[in-house]
Amino acid sequence: MQRFENAREAARTLRPDEPVYCFRPEVLKADARQFMESFPGKTAYAVKTNGEQIVLRALVEAGVTAFDVASPGEFAAVRAVSLDAEMLYMHPVKAQSDIRLALEKYGIRVIAVDHEDEIVKLTRVVRALDIDPGSITVFVRIQTKGHAAYELSKKFGAGPANAVELAERLQRTGYKVGLCFHVGSQIEDPDTYERALASADWVRNRLSFELAGLDVGGGFPAEYGHDPNRKQVEMPSLGQIMSRLSGDLKEYGFDRMPLVAEPGRVVVARCLSLIVRVLLRKGRRLYINDGIWASLSDSWTGKITLPARFIPDPAIRSRNGSEKNIVPFKVCGATCDSVDILSRPFWLPETVDTGDWIEIGHIGAYSLSLRTRFNGFYPDTFVEVTTPFDEGDAPQGFASLETMAD
Ligand SMILES: *Cc1c(COP(=O)(O)O)cnc(C)c1O
Repeated sequence: MQRFENAREAARTLRPDEPVYCFRPEVLKADARQFMESFPGKTAYAVKTNGEQIVLRALVEAGVTAFDVASPGEFAAVRAVSLDAEMLYMHPVKAQSDIRLALEKYGIRVIAVDHEDEIVKLTRVVRALDIDPGSITVFVRIQTKGHAAYELSKKFGAGPANAVELAERLQRTGYKVGLCFHVGSQIEDPDTYERALASADWVRNRLSFELAGLDVGGGFPAEYGHDPNRKQVEMPSLGQIMSRLSGDLKEYGFDRMPLVAEPGRVVVARCLSLIVRVLLRKGRRLYINDGIWASLSDSWTGKITLPARFIPDPAIRSRNGSEKNIVPFKVCGATCDSVDILSRPFWLPETVDTGDWIEIGHIGAYSLSLRTRFNGFYPDTFVEVTTPFDEGDAPQGFASLETMAD
């Protein structure tokens, strides 16, 4: 992989017409270590957030030993970078053949369920393979209510009374039993985990046995940009969320059992940025060579303002306006699809023009993993970059009201 100090150097050297991902392995390792140091339990990275081999390998190098996986493709991706990494199969609804593959070929011994039929499937495989159920930890996924940019709690999870029944049934069959939840992604309210812990507490207090563990899922927010035309939502920092969560875990007495977290977004968001080229400027619209069907679908569904940095093409000799004047541009994606328009503008100097580049920051989560080949566009070019996105020149997309007043 070619290496550059920053995206500007990469863009000016390569003059790329296709999108280029700028990977920062040291940023990834630092963010992974920071999470592991601040969470009082095991960190199982959620592979669906970004399952690229370069990412998984760097995480193993950073000391991540456990991975949250959901499919045969993810089992194989983790095995390819580590022969002994532990895998937690936390998808509550699984194909029976996938359960068999997980237990038989990949030696997976941690699994999640939220319905009695999933227990039936699991037990059928366990009996067929003659595995001792006592060697398997089954986490019962409980429903949670909360607010996150992406609400996932509506899709999965057993109601509290049902969770008690499922847990008792699993225990009678001989499994070790834990509880898990997943509050959604990019949570905005630090009370979210507490509400989920209160549900877990309700379930635990009705059980006839000791739990083998608690898995608090993912949802930890990453840092993005802010659209100055909208009311700023106060985002809690990871430090604030962690000290609150650790305190709540203690208060509910969950700190005395094995704990697991499944962070995705917060670990990988900062490690990638993306260089895109302005294919055409039409008034206050920019047509770029990426879009919602490639790297930018997550920001579209989550209505996230991505931080963006202007990389002017030095070959453009005359420009209109002032580079100091930061204005919003509507951003249109590469495909012919008319919905391929970002839900939030990019804030950039008014001088941006056809042929310039834009570096989009903090795009490591749910970008590469959600790419499609729609319309024949599939960004897949990588370079390594050493300077973190948040260092160097201020990204214009972080524009606040203060800088707007300029
Ligand atoms: C997607 C997912 C995660 C990761 O969520 P983030 O918000 O990216 O941290 C963790 N656990 C489960 C079960 C998931 O589905």
